[in-house]
Amino acid sequence: MTYSHHFENAVARLKDERRYRVFADLERSVGTFPRATWHGPDGAREVVIWCSNDYLGMGHHPDVIEAMAGTARRMGAGAGGTRNISGTSHPVVELERELADLHGKEAALVFTSGYISNQAGISTIAKLLPDCLILSDALNHNSMIEGVRQAGCEKQVFRHNDVGHLESLLRAAGSDRNKLIVFESIYSMDGDIGPIREICDLAERYRAMTYIDEVHAVGMYGPRGAGVAERDGQMSRIDVVEGTLGKAFGVMGGYIAGSAALVDAVRSHAAGFIFTTAMPPAVAAAATAAIRHLKSSSAERDLQQRQAARAKRVLSLAGLPVMPSDTHIVPVLVGDAEKCKSASDLLLRRHGIYIQPINYPTVPRGTERLRITPGPAHTDAMIDDLAAALLDVWLEFGLPHQPYRAAAE
Ligand code: PLP
Repeated sequence: MTYSHHFENAVARLKDERRYRVFADLERSVGTFPRATWHGPDGAREVVIWCSNDYLGMGHHPDVIEAMAGTARRMGAGAGGTRNISGTSHPVVELERELADLHGKEAALVFTSGYISNQAGISTIAKLLPDCLILSDALNHNSMIEGVRQAGCEKQVFRHNDVGHLESLLRAAGSDRNKLIVFESIYSMDGDIGPIREICDLAERYRAMTYIDEVHAVGMYGPRGAGVAERDGQMSRIDVVEGTLGKAFGVMGGYIAGSAALVDAVRSHAAGFIFTTAMPPAVAAAATAAIRHLKSSSAERDLQQRQAARAKRVLSLAGLPVMPSDTHIVPVLVGDAEKCKSASDLLLRRHGIYIQPINYPTVPRGTERLRITPGPAHTDAMIDDLAAALLDVWLEFGLPHQPYRAAAE
């Protein structure tokens, strides 16, 4: 093909910049997660996964699997088309009711991913507000940035979590102008939390709408797993909550929840909702099972918090550069793209530990890291093994660390 060299050059550039991504070939088995089989160059071997966003292991929960398998047996594998053409399968109706109830909102709308829900949700809401100004946190996820871009209206980016900066932008815009503040509850690469209460205060004072991405919080925070806004008593003050069904709820898909009028307007205008095949009924039923379970069970959440806290403590005591984090996310700083990739490779090959490297552009250059997500199924012994393996790799590559300080517990 005469065009091939363009594609080869594009990949070669990524390789030169040490940004070429290699995906591990993994097979998770029900009942043994976070253990999995890695199909590597020398054949299959058992590894422990430390970076899954199936944060609570709900993708392997018997109720969730049964909901998916049973619904597929009864209703088939696919959705049969867009909702416009094929109607809405009943499990999606039930899922949307469940989500509206979870977030205490009048309605919810399901999309085929969290990415699409942000892209379609933000762009459509902003387009429907005349002369809208979008105020967007500097560290918002790419799906939100794309939503802002597609909205085509004016945007201003406020410094990450800086409510003073946000207020100055709101004040300059004036109370009469339509304004949409878009931000996240948990920023997934650093594990820090947005100032939800303060942002809601500002939104009320300056007459702005609020749109929060709770993708890394739903299922895991709040007494019913509705997210950080629920935990902090702020959920009713937020206009639009966006979430995923693909992380703590263990399946796939995304959604927004808000007023009936807003959800109806997005349903009626968002191209990313209208012109694509709907979520299959079996996927919807599985997500509903996961949400229902986590509404009434805090056992998974509690254990996740315990193991995340323990992992932070054990790794810090081992002298590893654990970055400060307020959440279940445990980033360990490497600070070099090449070494980050090599550390990840050696962890897998020598220690059977899978943690993917996080490099630019996901994080700024110089802050390359391993992002660890302990979950309820990681045992104390696994955490101790992880610390020993990381120390070995840190020594191998001469990565900065403090002397070993004390026994972990
Ligand atoms: N929002 C944030 C903050 C994310 O980190 C992600 C994905 O990692 C998404 C949205 C997209 O969600 P999904 O994976 O369901 O497409």
